[in-house]
Amino acid sequence: MVINPQGELCRCGARGCWETQIGCDAVLRAAGRELDAAEVQDIVIAARSGDDAALDTMRTVGGWLGLGIGDLVNIFNPEVVVLGGYLHHLIAEVPGVKVDRVGSSRRAPREQVKVMPPELADDSTLIGAGELAFAELLADPLGILARSASLVTS
Ligand SMILES: [Zn+2]
Repeated sequence: MVINPQGELCRCGARGCWETQIGCDAVLRAAGRELDAAEVQDIVIAARSGDDAALDTMRTVGGWLGLGIGDLVNIFNPEVVVLGGYLHHLIAEVPGVKVDRVGSSRRAPREQVKVMPPELADDSTLIGAGELAFAELLADPLGILARSASLVTS
């Protein structure tokens, strides 16, 4: 999803994709950090402790995040948008930073959508992958055991 036609070249070949504006590289670039020598978490921690440059970075990225969310809200009209990865820090932990351009969405969907962190915090992706791997077992544990037993006895 292109949101900044004057933005950085994306690895997909387009320019200004949402990822180039809100991804980890975008945060590091906005903070003036070397891409391979710093972590986004360093900037989140600095912002949390009141570092003005880090807060400016988070506000900039938060603005692009909100702009993209606003577009998605206009298209899909979701009730909830869950921000995983480092993105939930933008709304959950850094004072004064908010997703402030969701306002670009139409009024009714904007008033109804909730932008929130995942309930499982930083482990949500890992837990989701684990649940996917074990989905068949969780759905039918006795059936899996019975099929496994029949394989052993045959
Ligand atoms: Zn792209």
